[in-house]
Amino acid sequence: EALNERLSSLTDLNVSFEFFPPSTPQMEETLWESIQRLSPLKPKFVSVTYGANSGVRDRTHKVIERIHAETELQAAPHLTLVDASDDELRQLARQYWQQGVRHIVALRGDVPAGQPNPNRYASDLVTLLKEEHDFEISVAAYPEVHPEASSAQADLINLKRKIDAGADRAITQFFFDIEAYLRFRDRCAAAGIEAEIVPGILPVTNYQQLLKFADFAKIRVPNWLHHMFDGLDDDPATRKLVGANVAIEMAKVLAKEGVSDFHFYTLNRAELSYAICHALGVRPGV
Ligand code: FAD
Repeated sequence: EALNERLSSLTDLNVSFEFFPPSTPQMEETLWESIQRLSPLKPKFVSVTYGANSGVRDRTHKVIERIHAETELQAAPHLTLVDASDDELRQLARQYWQQGVRHIVALRGDVPAGQPNPNRYASDLVTLLKEEHDFEISVAAYPEVHPEASSAQADLINLKRKIDAGADRAITQFFFDIEAYLRFRDRCAAAGIEAEIVPGILPVTNYQQLLKFADFAKIRVPNWLHHMFDGLDDDPATRKLVGANVAIEMAKVLAKEGVSDFHFYTLNRAELSYAICHALGVRPGV
């Protein structure tokens, strides 16, 4: 009851939505329907991911341009440094600024298998972007530690480096272990990181795909989550209801723990993110 009271009195929650560039006309339609559905919730920003090859890059630019042209939303492109020279990145940064982009999600990106570690990190990209223009910058954080980090402490120091280089907030990798997120937030505070550690919420509808993602990113899938989705492989309708319930419960606990900003990995679908926002009291016209 106390939790519900707190939720009903919350007026200061911020949400943001992440999309990826569609690769087919059908997926493009789904994306625009989702953007239209989620826009009235007045997200603080929406972000568009960035692929590692140039064809996909252009798609990111196109989505950003269309969001700017057709909506009031602040659109933040993701940008990775692994496959671009500093000169190319500077040029892109200037181009984005000219197009009205004021917020960038700055990432290293994944080093392609078999390639040597370029020894350039997201903190270098934050510095480079800040040298070009006074962008608002979000960076990535890993409550369960980035798979390549030499230790949890080294990873935390890297996050601090990114914030000290000028990043305004960290968005976390998705997680289901709420305690791990809360411990990580405490460790960030203890390390002197004052920026918001915004939880990245992944509403789950395709559990088998989630297991693959989680394995790749080394995210713990707790037993309770297995239990929730067990037996539903051939039942997408029930999976969706269960996925909404799981995410709503997680978001409520996080809100109770004082989290004020939520980032949703929408996978270009509005339904679950919309339902979670509704449960948090984030509604059109509020
Ligand atoms: P960094 O912060 O540079 O860290 C990478 C690794 O290097 C970590 O293990 C870190 O501890 C280590 N490290 C950092 N500095 C040093 C140093 N000086 N010496 C030694 N080790 C160091 N990928 C995409 O390709 N496109 C996207 O659009 C995209 N969006 C994402 C959005 C979010 C919110 C998140 C969480 C991830 C996203 N990713 C995306 C994935 C991301 O690119 C990968 O996780 C990548 O492997 C690391 O990127 P980073 O920016 O966290 O790297």
